[in-house]
Amino acid sequence: MDQTALIGIDNYSPVGDVAVIAMCASIFIMLLTSYVSRTRSFHIFMGIVALLALAAMANIFYHALLDIGNPDYYSLVYVLRVLYQAMLFNILFLFALYATVVSGLEHRKARYVAIGATVLLIVIVVLDIIFAATGIGFQITEDGRVVSRTNLFIIGYLIFVVLIVVLVRRVGELLYKNVVYGFLGIIAVAVVVRLGQLPLHESSLTTMSFVFPVVAMLYVMHSNPYNMSLGTVDKRALEDTVATMYERHESFIFMSLHLPDYDGEGRELPEEIKALVRQFSAEDFRGCILFQLDNGHLLMVVPLKHNPDFENRIAGILAHFDEQYERFKLPYTIVIGKDIDEISEKNEYVSFITSVHRSMPANTVRRVGPDDIVRFNREEHILQELADICNKRDLEDPRVLAYCQPVFNLQTGQFDTAEALMRLQLDSVGMVLPDQFIPMAENHGYIHVLTEIILNKTCGEIRRLSSEGFHISRVSVNVSVLELKEESFCSDISRIIESNGVSGDHIALELTESRSEADFMIMKEKIDELRRQGVQFYLDDFGTGYSNMERIMELPFDTIKFDRSLVIASRADERSERIVENLAQMFRDMDYSVLYEGVEDGADEKRCCMMYASYLQGYKYSRPVPIEQLRGFLPKAG
Ligand code: C2E
Ligand code: CA
Ligand code: CA
Repeated sequence: MDQTALIGIDNYSPVGDVAVIAMCASIFIMLLTSYVSRTRSFHIFMGIVALLALAAMANIFYHALLDIGNPDYYSLVYVLRVLYQAMLFNILFLFALYATVVSGLEHRKARYVAIGATVLLIVIVVLDIIFAATGIGFQITEDGRVVSRTNLFIIGYLIFVVLIVVLVRRVGELLYKNVVYGFLGIIAVAVVVRLGQLPLHESSLTTMSFVFPVVAMLYVMHSNPYNMSLGTVDKRALEDTVATMYERHESFIFMSLHLPDYDGEGRELPEEIKALVRQFSAEDFRGCILFQLDNGHLLMVVPLKHNPDFENRIAGILAHFDEQYERFKLPYTIVIGKDIDEISEKNEYVSFITSVHRSMPANTVRRVGPDDIVRFNREEHILQELADICNKRDLEDPRVLAYCQPVFNLQTGQFDTAEALMRLQLDSVGMVLPDQFIPMAENHGYIHVLTEIILNKTCGEIRRLSSEGFHISRVSVNVSVLELKEESFCSDISRIIESNGVSGDHIALELTESRSEADFMIMKEKIDELRRQGVQFYLDDFGTGYSNMERIMELPFDTIKFDRSLVIASRADERSERIVENLAQMFRDMDYSVLYEGVEDGADEKRCCMMYASYLQGYKYSRPVPIEQLRGFLPKAG
């Protein structure tokens, strides 16, 4: 035999392959014990991991049998070797398939890639078998040495790598650039490790070089942001889960807990509550997945088929919850329901469940019913209209109605001020009250445009009323604290007031207290700026929040609006009345005006007058009316 034409077979130590098997096992364990979206790419990924482990095992056996040197085993050695290489090529094939799936490559193109890669795979594997059978390729010599005349594996490997690189670059247009560069970098590392073995006559790291891309795939694609202390995953994972279950027609139960005190950034649930959540979800249901939709909003999804006795378990959890409530006394709402086709199809559980929570009084449990879906659809419709209103930013938008409630001025004995209150008039759902759309508009960032519209309509009406000879001191407009964060807030307000030819002192803005220090600073800045143009500021809903007196005094408010709840409280007994009266007196002593909201009858009126009122507002005088109807209340000038 011509020895020069032969390529010697490389050194081998099983360490690399053992490490591959251990890594694959670790990946399997992690994927089994944590939540992963069961997408199509995930199944391909699992296929790759399984093949890698099998290939490493085949390689270990192949070398072990070879080392024994018994010719009886040689045919098995041939088979194991062909099998090993075939599995590695199969992994390369799956890498290509994976790239088409995660990039969302167009169906037709993905098919071409799959067909091309399959043909390549078959050609290489068949050639490998033929080469081995005919003695052109891998051979075991009579003296037990292993030789080869060709290096088909390296050729096939390089062809596949080139195919994958070209593919990744092509589908790269559909992906985030840095991810693509990351993958190309990892392919380079893998190729360097594989080919770097050649001059060293090594082959121990061949299987290992296939693991690197797998690590990258795991890191980028299959690790959902996972909260270690709660075992929860995020909204995106919920959408994946719903999509998969809907596709497979699998029913599920959900249980959602909202603790509004912990909403918002940076408010972690206390450890004791976390411990309870861990216990509830893990111990009571099989196959439970826990999602965290907000810091204070947890959602449990449980497959129905594994939990036929879910009703008992829910009852158990609720009983347990009641006990715990006695300990924590935190406001909560709980929503329980079964999957709903209509919501699954649109994959809208987050907004649906949030909407149910919003509609509930504190500390209640609710089973989802058909009326919740009707309300949700109505809300979705309102939301679309709000989005449209916000996009158009038409300050005359006819869908936004300016209503007004006249306010009685005790000093002048006249209705010379009023509060503007918003309503929506929508074709399909009719009149919508603020409670139903203001929170939504705030959550979606639409509130500022609504304020602009209501302010514009109010200013327009003030101008008309003045020109008709009515006397109107000022109208107050409600502003959400969120809006103050907009860079252009002050300039937007001034521009609208000026463009209507109204002077700033005809307008007041109503603000509510905010807890956050940052909000406080912004509030102060904006109030100062607009006050210079004569705009007044009212503190709205005093007595409902947590009323930090120090903060209130630091902000230059003109009027404090005592919330209706204080008026109601003062009805109850002498002592409450004294408290409200003293509060009002304190404000009056410091030159604030005091306005009582929710004055409903003569008794309220009389009491409020005794309690240092400057202004009175409430159903006793009028419900909110369309702003044009203010004419019926206002005095004539002069
Ligand atoms: P608010 O600012 O406290 O407005 C007073 C609410 O109390 C109004 O409800 C009014 O109709 C109601 N009200 C007035 N007098 C009485 C009374 O004697 N008894 C009772 N039970 N209620 C009375 P409305 O118009 O439904 O507004 C609800 C809330 O929606 C407002 O509370 C305010 O927070 C918000 N809102 C209304 N319009 C706007 C707006 O243009 N912009 C913003 N950001 N919020 C608004
Ligand atoms: Ca108000
Ligand atoms: Ca109020």
